[in-house]
Amino acid sequence: MQNTKKLYYEDSHMAEFTAEVLSCEKETGKEGTIYKIVLDRTAFFPEGGGQSADTGYLNDAAVSDVKEKEGIIYHICQKELPVGTRVQGRLDFEKRFDKMQNHTGEHIVSGLVHELFGYENVGFHLGTDVTMDFSGELSKEDLLMIERKANEAVIKNIPVQTAFPDKETLASMTYRSKIELEGEVRIVTIPGYDCCACCAPHVRLTGEIGMIKLLSAQKYKGGTRVTMVCGFRALADYNQKSEQISAVSVLLSAKQTEIADAVAHVKEELTVCKSQLTGLRQQLLQLKVSQLEDRMPNICMFEPDLNGNEIRMLVNLCMEKCDGICIAFSGSDTDGYQFVAGSRTKDMREFGKALQEAFEGRGGGKPEMIQGSIKGEQKAIEAWILHKLEEN
Ligand SMILES: [Zn+2]
Repeated sequence: MQNTKKLYYEDSHMAEFTAEVLSCEKETGKEGTIYKIVLDRTAFFPEGGGQSADTGYLNDAAVSDVKEKEGIIYHICQKELPVGTRVQGRLDFEKRFDKMQNHTGEHIVSGLVHELFGYENVGFHLGTDVTMDFSGELSKEDLLMIERKANEAVIKNIPVQTAFPDKETLASMTYRSKIELEGEVRIVTIPGYDCCACCAPHVRLTGEIGMIKLLSAQKYKGGTRVTMVCGFRALADYNQKSEQISAVSVLLSAKQTEIADAVAHVKEELTVCKSQLTGLRQQLLQLKVSQLEDRMPNICMFEPDLNGNEIRMLVNLCMEKCDGICIAFSGSDTDGYQFVAGSRTKDMREFGKALQEAFEGRGGGKPEMIQGSIKGEQKAIEAWILHKLEEN
C-alpha cells in the first residue's frame, strides 16, 4: 500500500479535508470491534514527538486514535467505511491547536534553556499538565528570566520553519535531539530560539502560542522538572486562580494583592484563640474537680470531648483529692472512649488489663498511671467500674 500523504505537514491548521478510503480492516478484541481505516491522505496526526494523536471524525465515524506504521496511517474508528468512497475528515481542532500552542511553547523554552544553560530536555509530557525535565538545576531567577525571554519570542511573532534536510545537510547541522533517527528527519526551527528534530505539527507563527507561563519547578533526578501552560490553557489557569483569589479576598475583606498578609494575620489570631481556649478548658476542669466532695474513695468521670492531655490533667487533679482510683473517660458510645486511670496508692496495671479485656481495649502505662482506649457504652463501663471498685 502507498504511504499516507501527511496533510498536517503541508498545513498544520487544516481542520477539514477530503480523502479516499484505501482500506478498512475489522479487528475484534477485548474492548469490542474497531475498524482500522487507511486513507490516501490525512490531516490526522498520529502520536509522536511527545504529542498525542488527534481525534475527530471521518464522515460520522468518530476517530478515537491514530497510529502510524511504516509510513501508513491508521485511523481507529468504531464504524466501517466502504473502501473506494470519498470521506470528509474533521479534526477536533480546538484540542489540536491547544497541543500545538503548548508544544511550540515547549520548543522555545527548551531552546532557551539549551542555549543559556547547556541543559538538555530529557523528558517532555504534553497531557493534562505540560512538564519538561531538564538535565540541570534551574533557580527561581533563572526560570523568571527564561519565561521573560520565551514571551519575547512570542511577541516577535516569528515564523516557525519546518524542513526535511538531506543526510549531508543534516550531518552538518546543529540541532537538539540529534540522535540516530530512522528514515527522514524533520527539523523544526524557530529562528533565534530553537532548532530541534520533531515530527509533530506546530503553530505557524510564535504569536499564535499566546502567553508562555512557567507555573512551578521542582528538583527531579538531579535536574529540574518545570510545569508550564501556554495559550488558552494559560488563560484558563489565570481565570481559575483569579476566581480563587477573588473568593478568598471577599472572605477576608482584603484587597486581592494583599491576601497573603491577611491570611497570615488570621492564622496569628487563630493561634491566640487556640491558646486562650486551652487555658479556659483547663480552668473549667479545675473548677469541676474543685466542686467534687473531699475524701471520695474513688473517682470516675465521663467528659464528652477532651483531648489526651486534658484527660491526663483531669486525672492528675482528681488524684490530689482522692487516694483511691481516679479514672476519666472521653469519647462516645459509638466511637469508643479514651481513658486515663491513676492512683497514688494502688498499682493500676492489673486494673487496666481487666478493663481492656472487658471492653476490647488497648493501652498500657506505669504502676501509678495507665492510659488507653476501649469500646463500649458508658452505662456498661460505669457498671463494670463500680463492681470492680467494690471488689478491691
Ligand atoms: Zn517537539
